[in-house]
Order: sequence, then C-alpha cells, then structure tokens
Amino acid sequence: MKLIKVIVPVIIQKNSRGIFKFYQSRRKPPPFRCGECQKGSDDVEYMKGYKFRLYPNKAQAILLNKTLGCCRFVFNHFLSVRRDSWENDKKSVSYNETSALMTQLKSDENHLWLKEVDSIALQQSLRDLDVAYKNFFKYNRGYPNFKSRRNRRQSYRTQNSGKKIRVEGKRIKLPKVGLVRFEQSREIKGRILNATVTKTATDKYFVSLCVEEDIADNLRQNDGGQIGLDVGLKEFCTDNRGNRVVNPKPLSRLSKKLTKAQRKLSRRKLDSHNRNRQRIILARVHEKITNIRRDFLHKLTTKLCRENQTIAVESLNVQGMMKNHKLARAIADVSWGEFFRQLQYKAILYGCDVIKVPTFYPSSQTCCNCGYKNSLTKDLSVRRWICPVCGTVHDRDQNAAVNILRKALEMKSSA
Ligand SMILES: [Zn+2]
Repeated sequence: MKLIKVIVPVIIQKNSRGIFKFYQSRRKPPPFRCGECQKGSDDVEYMKGYKFRLYPNKAQAILLNKTLGCCRFVFNHFLSVRRDSWENDKKSVSYNETSALMTQLKSDENHLWLKEVDSIALQQSLRDLDVAYKNFFKYNRGYPNFKSRRNRRQSYRTQNSGKKIRVEGKRIKLPKVGLVRFEQSREIKGRILNATVTKTATDKYFVSLCVEEDIADNLRQNDGGQIGLDVGLKEFCTDNRGNRVVNPKPLSRLSKKLTKAQRKLSRRKLDSHNRNRQRIILARVHEKITNIRRDFLHKLTTKLCRENQTIAVESLNVQGMMKNHKLARAIADVSWGEFFRQLQYKAILYGCDVIKVPTFYPSSQTCCNCGYKNSLTKDLSVRRWICPVCGTVHDRDQNAAVNILRKALEMKSSA
C-alpha cells in the first residue's frame, strides 16, 4: 500500500488579514467508497487539527503576550526590510537572507528582548512572511499587510522539534512557556507536528495542534442511507422525506444585542478602562454567534454523514450569491460554504459520497412524480403547488430535494 497523505480541514483559521486558511489536500483524497473494505489500510496517515482552551497562569500569560508581540514585530520589521530594499535598490530579499538578518538583530543591544521568547515561533513568522510574498507574486493575492497591535485576534505558530510540545497529564508543554494547564476535551492519538497559540478578542487563549494520525483510527461506518437536500434561507435544509432543519440564524437572533453593545462601545472614551470592558462585552456577543453557528453545523454534518451513504446537494455558487447585497447578510449568517466544507471532509472519514447536482438542473420546477416542468414555480414565494398533469400536491422544498436525490443517483450510476 502506498503512503498517501491526506490533509483534512478540521479547523478554520482566520489570520490577521481576515483570510481563511484551509489545510487542503495536495493530492486527490483516496476513494474511500466503503467503510468496510477500506478500513484495513492502516498505513495511510493524515493531518488532523485539535483545538483546546489554554489556562495560562499570570507569568505564562505575560510570556505568551510577549511572544505574540515579538512575532508580530519580526513580521512587520522584515516586511519593511523587504519592501524598502525593493523600493530603493530594486533588490529582493530572500527568506534565507531575512533569517541571517534576524540572527544579527537578536544580538543587537536594543533587541535583546527577542531572545526571551520561543525562537522557532520567530522563525515561523519569517516563513509566514515569505509565504505571503509568494502568494502575492504567484497567485496575485495582494501585497502583504503589516500586522496591527490593535487587531484583537493574535496568534503565533511553533514547530514541534525534539518533542518540545507534548501533553503531560492535565497540562501541555509549549516551548519556552513550559507546562500550561489546558482543557483536553479529546485524546490525541498521533504525532504533534506544530502548535498555534491564539489569543481571542475576549482575552481567551487557545492552542491548535496539527497532528499526524493514522487514518484507520478515524474511519467510521455510515448507516448506508440515501438523502437529498435542498438548502434554503428560511429552513436550513429540507430533505427528500420532508424533514426540515430549522436555520438557527444566530446573527439575526443576536443582532439587537450586537447593535446595543456596539452603540455603547462607540460612546466610551478612547483608551479608557470602561471602553476595554465594553469591547470584551461586544466581542463575547460575536463569539457567541460564531459558537452557535459552529455547533449547529458540526452536529448536522456529522449526523448526515453518519446516517447516509449518498448525500445529494445542489452545487451552489456561494461567493457569487454573496454579491447580491440584499441577500449577503442572510447568506453569510446561514454559512453554506462552511456547511459544504464540513460535509466534504467528514464524508471522507465516513466513506460517503457527496454528490453535487449542477445548479442549472430545474430541481424546484420539475414534478417529482411525473416529470412535468412547471415554470410558474420559479417564483420563490410559491411554497406549495399542485401538478397540473398528475395532480400531486407538492411542497416546494421537499419536491426539490426528491429531484436532487434522483438526479444525483442518475449521475452516480452513469459515472
Ligand atoms: Zn406531476
């Protein structure tokens, strides 16, 4: 059996520039068709993300904050070095050159404080900067930005060299910081590759571990069902049996609270204690919205993958739909993009097939009983309709879900 590395996205990360980072697989994921026959492939490894809450003591929190600050300083310092060198001398500075410059900088009298923190984390900042430049030149991603001290979400990453990151009882060992108390909600089975320490806007600390695991330990069996889903804004989704999943709409539910907290914050005096207190109150509301959404999506996607072998969905162009300003807020709140992402990676672990039916297939217009195409149902306000040919009473969403499943099964058998 060949060694196949699958990097499955588990944690979404938002970096300081607000870009979501995915751990995407370099190669196509292996075809885990059936949970039964594939389970023996024990030499397949993949990366898994774990995120735990950290409870540092006062001294540790100070050191973590220092590390966050130093990493930001290194990133910004060498960004300006690289930028100025190009602007003044038309010379580009490579990663290796910045690395050599950093060694010099650390022995400089005015920058001795850089030695206090984890050196691998500083090195990682340089690498991140290099990646930012590569993305700019290769993929036209925009010029690297300076990291702001005012950005409330700060993070640094460090590599696990020589087992410096390890779990010891109820604590986790981090380089330089030492043993930090943490809430280990799940057991880690594999080898820890790196750790990212994050400080959130609500002044909570988290550690995200990237772990290389045996995929056999993570494969599950599904119950072999078939389901077609029609996703919507009012109901999150309706399946082909007519079951509806209510959209939790955390943003619109908490929008009043959000506005109130926001308004209070804007009235507070700049750089005052009261302002800081209000900032945390506001950040907690945002955190709550994210948590409700995440919890809902994880539970739903796990349930779908656990119960079904075939999951048929419509392939929606979420980014394109977001361009509609009237709907953008509601679409962002319902978070379909994240839903499809989770569905995809869990499907690999549960061995199910997620089949995306093309958008141009008229799923809500076709009668699922006789196949008659009723163009009157294009109007979104038509929730119920009677087929003029066979007389079946249709619920709009359920009818669409039935059609999506049928089309998906057709696509599956012809493939
Ligand atoms: Zn009909």
